[in-house]
Amino acid sequence: MRYISTRGEAPALGFEDVLLTGLATDGGLYVPESLPHFSLEEIRSWRGLSYSELAFNVMHPFVDDAIPADDFRTMLDETYAVFSHKAVAPLVQLDTNEWVMELFHGPTLAFKDFALQLLGRLLDYVLEKRKQHVVIMGATSGDTGSAAIEGCRRCEHVDIFILHPYERVSEVQRRQMTTVKGENIHNIAVRGNFDDCQRMVKESFGNQGFLGGKTQLAAVNSINWARIMAQIVYYFQASLALGGPDRSMAFSVPTGNFGDIFAGYLARKMGLPISQLVIATNRNDILHRFMSGNKYEQHQLEHTLSPSMDIMVSSNFERLLFDLHGRDGQAVKELLENAAKGPVSIEDYRWKHARKLFDSDAVDDKTTCDVIREIYEQNEYLLDPHTAIGVKAARNCRRDSSVPMITLGTAHPAKFPDAISEAGLTVQPQLPAHMADLFERDEHYTVLDNNIAGVQEFIAEHWKNT
Ligand SMILES: *Cc1c(COP(=O)(O)O)cnc(C)c1O
Repeated sequence: MRYISTRGEAPALGFEDVLLTGLATDGGLYVPESLPHFSLEEIRSWRGLSYSELAFNVMHPFVDDAIPADDFRTMLDETYAVFSHKAVAPLVQLDTNEWVMELFHGPTLAFKDFALQLLGRLLDYVLEKRKQHVVIMGATSGDTGSAAIEGCRRCEHVDIFILHPYERVSEVQRRQMTTVKGENIHNIAVRGNFDDCQRMVKESFGNQGFLGGKTQLAAVNSINWARIMAQIVYYFQASLALGGPDRSMAFSVPTGNFGDIFAGYLARKMGLPISQLVIATNRNDILHRFMSGNKYEQHQLEHTLSPSMDIMVSSNFERLLFDLHGRDGQAVKELLENAAKGPVSIEDYRWKHARKLFDSDAVDDKTTCDVIREIYEQNEYLLDPHTAIGVKAARNCRRDSSVPMITLGTAHPAKFPDAISEAGLTVQPQLPAHMADLFERDEHYTVLDNNIAGVQEFIAEHWKNT
């Protein structure tokens, strides 16, 4: 399998290189040159498979000969064995033909574990083979950092440095990062805000001289192709559980960077009958404004009760734009260069084509709280604020009540207790048993000034070969 850039100029890469690469050299994102396609008969034959067996069937064509089949199977068994629910991605029914797929049974209680648990293992496997080492450097305002740390804790060829803004992440989120023990794990609290952290990461990728040429930086943010790949699997899983592929499904996806929902779009292109994908956003609604009015325009960032969806631009959306433009990298490049300067639209027929599959909705904080309260009162089931936005959008955008509507449950409610109390509920969401002592565990992190030279010096001194 070869991977090409959405901006058409960077060289095509194989799976191993794509795994180790973030952005393509032309500024684009990597996508598979062609997708595998499964017949209905083949998909039907997967009924009753375990999550990890299904994951093998869906992902193996992407990995191809980079990893021998037996090794890849073992890796997948290990990856999904750490989830605390046997079904890995169980479905919970909310109403007639309406479901939530719980994607929060991984170690850090959010869907990002599905991809990052696998990514850590993939990286270590490839680095072992190549006798290489990498330093993962990332900035986080919450979920990604903890999932990345958990995913890399056992990696022998990876040191991971995660920057978070000092005293500006929630206590649960901070503790999920800082209580993980491992010599290769380094938490840095920067006396600054999230943007300061992100800027330091970006500049460090641009100039890696501080590492002295002895190792290189790698990225684990959502533009990494392997993360998208791992997320395709659970769309197949949900469909098979509810009578697919002999009936089609609708999915509603709480969306920030468009990674998770893009995986659903790919599942459909690979042969899974999906008749509708709902883009659910909070007030940071650039994608909703595009889908409802064909205008792509950056607004100011708003802070909401669903912080993991607080974005101004949606990086993976570029991957959809590439397909909407007939995979013309030059056209995508021009469009996005213009989008950096002001509002842009795409040709009407292209936009209408997207609208055949996608609907969208934006949900504000008050409505998010209303939904959390309503579902709790009706079903005694607690939604986290991100999932609540998905449920609301699913209901507002529903096209056909005979088609099962599945909302992706992206986080466990215990991660976001503030939203639950803001919803006026007195019930306290409980952390699952394996995390019940989170608040008693020892924390490890280093507070550094908002100064890139100091942060780079810390990294150069602390990765393991030095
Ligand atoms: C990251 C995240 C999202 C957004 O996912 P994207 O793939 O960026 O669209 C939604 N909900 C939660 C809880 C998240 O952590």
